[in-house]
Amino acid sequence: MSGQNPVFIPGPTNIPDRIRHAMNVQTLDHRAPDFIDVFAPVLADLRKVFKTTSGTPVLFAGSGTGGWEAALTNTLSPGDKVLIARFGMFSHRWIDMCERLGLEVEVIECEWGAGAPADLYGEALASDTAHSIRAVLVTHNETATGVVSDIGAIRRAMDACGHPALLFADAVSSLGSIDFRMEEWGVDICVAGSQKGFMLSTGMAIICVSAKALAAAETAGLPRCYFDIREMTKANAKGGFPYTPPLNLIMGLRESLDMIFEEGLENVFARHARLAEGVRKAAAAWGMELCAHSPELYSNSVTAVVVPEGFDATRLINHAYDTYGMSFGVGLGEVAGKVFRIGHLGSLTDAMVLSGLATIEMAMKDLNYPITLGSGVAAAQEHYRTTANTARAEA
Ligand code: PLP
Repeated sequence: MSGQNPVFIPGPTNIPDRIRHAMNVQTLDHRAPDFIDVFAPVLADLRKVFKTTSGTPVLFAGSGTGGWEAALTNTLSPGDKVLIARFGMFSHRWIDMCERLGLEVEVIECEWGAGAPADLYGEALASDTAHSIRAVLVTHNETATGVVSDIGAIRRAMDACGHPALLFADAVSSLGSIDFRMEEWGVDICVAGSQKGFMLSTGMAIICVSAKALAAAETAGLPRCYFDIREMTKANAKGGFPYTPPLNLIMGLRESLDMIFEEGLENVFARHARLAEGVRKAAAAWGMELCAHSPELYSNSVTAVVVPEGFDATRLINHAYDTYGMSFGVGLGEVAGKVFRIGHLGSLTDAMVLSGLATIEMAMKDLNYPITLGSGVAAAQEHYRTTANTARAEA
């Protein structure tokens, strides 16, 4: 049954046919000019997606988690202090990695559903007059709770007290779906992956590194080998990889970038905002709250919907899959069983999202949720119908 329907997990996302075909290539010699001719422009074009002119994009075979590790091990030394807020499963896992790598971690504990608190980051940084915090870590889009945070506000908090720490942002579930401005926000390493906004298969960490972070890589003391940015950038400068590159993914990434630029990056963000708003209107029509605490935190790539007291969101997700062959995101960690997630990022249209809403409604009705069939779909339809022309005119 799976494979027939679009997926509504918040990544990996649906792969457009154009990208599937682009990835379906016979082996090419990765030291031959054909590969180099594709690879160098891919790296250059990635800068436009990160919104940086000076950052250095780097690709590692791996996934977003490998990108986290690359960011930490290339720039920090054992015992270095990092500052990070925990407000969902992915910030939690990044904290866990920091601890396992032997870093000293100052954690700002937040409720799941809150955003990264720029004021508390600011207070911690202002009181660190010895500048012992070497890196500030922020999850831009917390995929577990459907919360987007204001990275610019964190940068302003750092600047307000003149703190020189590096700033790392996890944009795994936002890059290419929600506006991200590496240069404007003074981000030193942005971490993303191939399987979300880029609409590719899983298998690549896609990161971008500032000059300041590259300089830190020269003296950082944490052990690193496969994820050594110095080896990678040296080889990239000659057009290649220090080891065998994931050729098919890089071919797919070329196509992905072409698709994003054809639609227009800002139009991609606008499409995500519009699709997300339809989903939020559907949740409101079902009478359900979102996990995200307030509208400015609403993510345009994933919505975590809180199920009514006494219902089990995991059972709902399993039922939707078993009965209708459609995948939605399960609640993770502290919100397991309490929320289900609708991923609405990557290659999606109004009609695709409506099919997801109609299906989860059937699953809810089957399990006696207090909803009216069609209510969420109708709310989303009304939103899509009345905003369609505006979106087309602006495209
Ligand atoms: N960070 C965020 C915000 C994520 O959503 C994910 C995965 O969903 C990760 C990190 C981990 O990335 P990966 O699963 O690609 O290793």
